[in-house]
Amino acid sequence: EVHEELQVLRGNIRVVCRARPAAPDEEPILAFPMAGALTVSPPDRRISDFEFNACFGPDSTQEDVFEEIAPLIRSCVDGYNACIFAYGQTGSGKTHTMQGPPEDPGVYQRALQELFAAMGGNAEHAHAPGGGYISVAMLEIYNDDARDLLADAVTGKAASLDVSGLGAGQLPPGVERIPGLTWRQVATVDHVAAVLADGSRQRSTAATAMNSSSSRSHAILSVKICADAATGACSLLHLVDLAGSERVGRSEVAGTQMKEAQSINKSLSALGDVVSALQRRASHIPFRNSKLTQARTHLCLRRWIGHCRMFFDMFPVGNPAAFGPSRWDIEAA
Ligand code: ADP
Ligand code: MG
Repeated sequence: EVHEELQVLRGNIRVVCRARPAAPDEEPILAFPMAGALTVSPPDRRISDFEFNACFGPDSTQEDVFEEIAPLIRSCVDGYNACIFAYGQTGSGKTHTMQGPPEDPGVYQRALQELFAAMGGNAEHAHAPGGGYISVAMLEIYNDDARDLLADAVTGKAASLDVSGLGAGQLPPGVERIPGLTWRQVATVDHVAAVLADGSRQRSTAATAMNSSSSRSHAILSVKICADAATGACSLLHLVDLAGSERVGRSEVAGTQMKEAQSINKSLSALGDVVSALQRRASHIPFRNSKLTQARTHLCLRRWIGHCRMFFDMFPVGNPAAFGPSRWDIEAA
C-alpha cells in the first residue's frame, strides 16, 4: 500500500531550512533587516530570496522538524530508500538537528523510534510480524578516508574501511556494499541510544587522531530496514551530518576574524536599514549610521556586493549557488 503522503514525496528532493536560535554572544542575524530578508516566515516558506519546502524558525522544536520528515522515514518500511542530509556551516545546528543532546534527541533517535512503531511494534520496541529487523551502521568520511564508527567499540579505535569499490568521494547509497562495515541490530530505543553513544565517542576519538575536527568530516548513520525477513528485501535510510559548508580555513572564525565578521554584519544591517527606509519612502534615510552607507559611491556598492558574498559564505541560509543568481549578483552584473 502506497500512502497518499508518499505520492507527494516519491523521487522528490525537498529542501527544508532550520534556523537555530542566536547564541548569547551572537548578534541575532535573523533580525537582520535587509528589506525584510532573513526573517523566517514559515507560512510562506521563504527566507531571504530563497524558497524552501518548509522553514523552521529559531523556536522550532526537534519534534517540529521531525514531523516534517516522518513520512519519508515511514516510507522506508514500505520498501523505499531515503536519504536526509544536514547541510550548513559549522555551528549552524546540523548535529543538534540530526543527533541532538540526550535530553532532546534529534532525527537519529526519532527516526528509529518511528521505524520501530511503523514495523508493527510500539515506539519502544519492534515486533515485526514477519520477523523483520533493523540494523544500523555508523561511519565517518574524512577526505577520502572512511572509518567504521562502530568497529571495536572496546578499544575506541575506529577501523579504516575500504571504500575503493565505491568510487572516490561517493556518498551513500553504496554503504551497504562496504566490506567489513559493522552493522548492529537494534530493537529498542535503549539499543539505539547505546549505539549512537558508541559511534559519537568514536567520531571524536577519530577526529583527534586525524588532527581534524568533526566539522570537516561527514558522519553517516545508515539504517537497514528489513520489514519482512521472508522476502529478504531491505530498504536503506541514510541520515547524514555533513561537514561544515564553510570553506576550510574560515572555520576557525575567532578573534580578529570574528570582529571582522561582526563589523560586516553591522554595516550590512545599517545598509538594510537604508534600503528599507528607501523602500518605505521614509523622510529620514539613515545613511550616517555606518561608513558603508555614508559613502554612497560606486566603489561602496561594489564592496557591499562583496560583503554580501562574504556574509553568505559565513552565514549561509541555503546554498546560493544552488538557487541561481541572487539579487546581488544581478546588480553586480
Ligand atoms: P553544527 O553541527 O552545524 O556545527 P551544532 O549542532 O553543533 O552545529 O550547533 C552549534 C551550537 O548551537 C551547539 O551548542 C548546539 O547545542 C546549539 N544549537 C544548534 N541548534 C540549536 C537549536 N535548534 N536550539 C538550541 N540550540 C541549538
Ligand atoms: Mg556538527
